[in-house]
Amino acid sequence: MTGINTFAVIGGDLRQAYLAESIAADGYFVYAAEFDKYPFSGLVKKTSTEEAVERCTHVILPLPVTMDGITIQAPYSYHPIILDEYFASMLGEKPVFGGQLDKLPKMEIWYKVRKYDYFQRESLAVENAVPSAEGALEIAMRELPVTINGSRCLVAGYGRIGKVLARMLSSLGAQMTVSARKPEDLAWIKLNGFRAVKTAEIRNSGCYDVIFNTIPSIVFDAQTLSLVAENALVIDLASAPYGVDFEAAKRLNIKTILASGLPGKVAPQTAGIIIKNAIYQMIREESL
Ligand code: NAP
Repeated sequence: MTGINTFAVIGGDLRQAYLAESIAADGYFVYAAEFDKYPFSGLVKKTSTEEAVERCTHVILPLPVTMDGITIQAPYSYHPIILDEYFASMLGEKPVFGGQLDKLPKMEIWYKVRKYDYFQRESLAVENAVPSAEGALEIAMRELPVTINGSRCLVAGYGRIGKVLARMLSSLGAQMTVSARKPEDLAWIKLNGFRAVKTAEIRNSGCYDVIFNTIPSIVFDAQTLSLVAENALVIDLASAPYGVDFEAAKRLNIKTILASGLPGKVAPQTAGIIIKNAIYQMIREESL
């Protein structure tokens, strides 16, 4: 990173606000646009979008860049900002960082913008596993009538979130069962001191007090729910198509919680710094 980088942070939620402050605290000039309602410290200068883009070397857009496919995600702005030809052409040749850029309008001009999707970075996904797992833990502690300590916990899936969450639950004294489908993951689960079950055999693995699903595919269908979750709290962390048949759970009177977007909700400052780190890595790696 050179000392001459100047950043325009355009739109976004609390994560982008913290990101802007954090970049400014690193010693860079930061211009923030579409944050009318957010009280930045003196380090971040609020400007119009045009001025921010004009003055910067790098542009940072939110995660996700848009919720509706038309306007930039900007909950602190008074006005909707349309991701149209005018906006895209204003960005010129500058490198533009954003999250879930596949959601941008399918307009030819957007294909010409020098875009980099920080949400695609593996390091960001790994780091995000920590606030996601902490958020899941917070929900469980709030909703359960018993302590995590001593509870029978199932974590379905041993990917990034599954690994972090199983470790956290175990350190609180939970009776841990973890599922995976790959033999090497099952071996790691055992090696880490947890009971291992194949995901396809969860239905025969007993009953639980709390189930955390991290698998984005229906694992907890009506039959599985009726066998393992009769008196359980079921927290689904996975993205669409999710892992729980919510209709079936409702019929079976099983309490379910769909816990999406946890990093931004439970730890927006950490989540903003995780995004910042991913952008800095991209700037360094690609000499942008
Ligand atoms: P990950 O590292 O890809 O882990 C996903 C796990 O699900 C892996 O163990 C994977 O097994 C397993 N899996 C995927 N498809 C499967 C299938 N059809 N049958 C059985 N197992 C399957 O993902 P992650 O980063 O832990 O994230 C987990 C989910 O949470 C994702 O959907 C992600 O988008 C979402 N997420 C949610 C939040 C939140 O706030 N709730 C935050 C970040 C991410 P293999 O390794 O064998 O494929």
